[in-house]
Amino acid sequence: MARELVLVLGDQLERHSPALTAAARDDAVVLMIESAGEAEHAWSHKQRIALFLAAMRHHAEALRDAGWSVDYQSLDAGHDSLQAGLADAIARHRPTRVHVVEAGEWRVQAMVEAACRGAGVALEVHDDTHFYCRREEFADWARGRKQLVMEFFYRDMRKRFDVLMEDGKPAGDEWNFDRANRGSFGRKGPGAVPAPRRFEPDAITRAVLEEVAARFGDHPGALESFAWPVTREQAAAALEDFVVQRLPLFGRYQDAMWQGEPWLYHAHIAAAMNLKLLDPRDAVAAAVEAWRSGHAPLEAVEGFVRQVLGWREFIRGVYWLEMPDYAEHNHFDHERPLPEFFWNAATDLNCLRQCFGDTLENGYAHHIQRLMVIGNFSLLAGLDPRAVCDWFLGIYVDAVEWVELPNTLGMALHADGGIVGTKPYVASGAYIKRMSNYCAGCRYAPNKRSGEGACPFNLLYWDFLARHREQLAANPRMGLAVKNLERIGQDELARIRAEAAVFLAQLEAR
Ligand code: SF4
Repeated sequence: MARELVLVLGDQLERHSPALTAAARDDAVVLMIESAGEAEHAWSHKQRIALFLAAMRHHAEALRDAGWSVDYQSLDAGHDSLQAGLADAIARHRPTRVHVVEAGEWRVQAMVEAACRGAGVALEVHDDTHFYCRREEFADWARGRKQLVMEFFYRDMRKRFDVLMEDGKPAGDEWNFDRANRGSFGRKGPGAVPAPRRFEPDAITRAVLEEVAARFGDHPGALESFAWPVTREQAAAALEDFVVQRLPLFGRYQDAMWQGEPWLYHAHIAAAMNLKLLDPRDAVAAAVEAWRSGHAPLEAVEGFVRQVLGWREFIRGVYWLEMPDYAEHNHFDHERPLPEFFWNAATDLNCLRQCFGDTLENGYAHHIQRLMVIGNFSLLAGLDPRAVCDWFLGIYVDAVEWVELPNTLGMALHADGGIVGTKPYVASGAYIKRMSNYCAGCRYAPNKRSGEGACPFNLLYWDFLARHREQLAANPRMGLAVKNLERIGQDELARIRAEAAVFLAQLEAR
């Protein structure tokens, strides 16, 4: 019998967990549970399943090495859900209390509470110290504000944690260097991009990969390219590799896309951070040091800090402020089911084919591919937000619900009506042409908005604006787009909308 049970969830793989600190090592059992239900709750990419399992199994080894007694319930234990696994462990260990760090996901928190309540055992939920901002602190910040504007939150965080501040002012006298961070590659392309650091699977990871291939063979995606960091040491090495090799150009090219270049100058550390193999403070400190030492320019470092200290913390705050109702928002009443090509990349729209292809190959696509190609298409085509969110949650290795849901439902789909973003992020083919070379390899013409070979993004963009004209006209940030819509003659607009209707009808048939 253990006096205390410490539940470590699959995305809580930090070294200094408050739940571990609170328990007596000699008198406690650490419980970790693998559950097939978690891989199927969102129909997950094989690499996403493998990453969770490999990182969890390495973490269990590290805990044992540190002297903890670990009850590791593998898939073979057959627990359909975390709740069932926890209830079973409580029955076996009969602890006086269960320690857990606040779950990242609302649904998981509810399962943990239900299992403890059902067994009549005390549950001690510890603050999640991985994040800079506690949930209650975000709620305090949000209270009384008409609109939650990330920029204001971000500035407060910079001041509060003294990041990129000099004499009380933002470094470089500006809070935001976004203008310098929208470069494209031009005709010649990106040239030689430093390859990201790969982590060859060790024996534990190889066993996981074999198990995933056998058990989850019908899940989407390829396993062959799996090289994600699965330990804290590897996560630290991935951060160092990013800072040394790619951070200096991260800012300039963070919105750029290029066919056959899935990794570019991005960090690829979100998965490690979201599993808590990497502390966001270490990521921010390393980037700031790169600026101070002259290795990386301020605009690149500020862009990175904005993502980690600003956006990531803001999104998590919104998630916990708004859940559980947040997941149900559907501002535009969109209901169209996902086309089959979300699962197999079989589409003749080259930008989508490339972005889905990268995603299925690696369980990864960078944020502009996600936001401005796949998300943009999903919004313009009126896809069901719930289905789109489930797809994003399952398909990307770094996706956990607190970060995925507000980013997809709010930022990409504007289905929350503006809680996260102040306007819908919609764009026509012109944006994709400007920021990538996808259009050069496409059968459609990005400059054509109707007629034979017109880019479907153009058809859908104008159709979307026309469909929601009244709603959008009320948003000051959409004023220019609505004005441009009004410049299109009635006959041409009717033609565009008729062609969009044909495209959408064919979409449902695919
Ligand atoms: Fe995508 Fe349109 Fe460009 Fe084709 S032409 S790649 S569909 S934006």
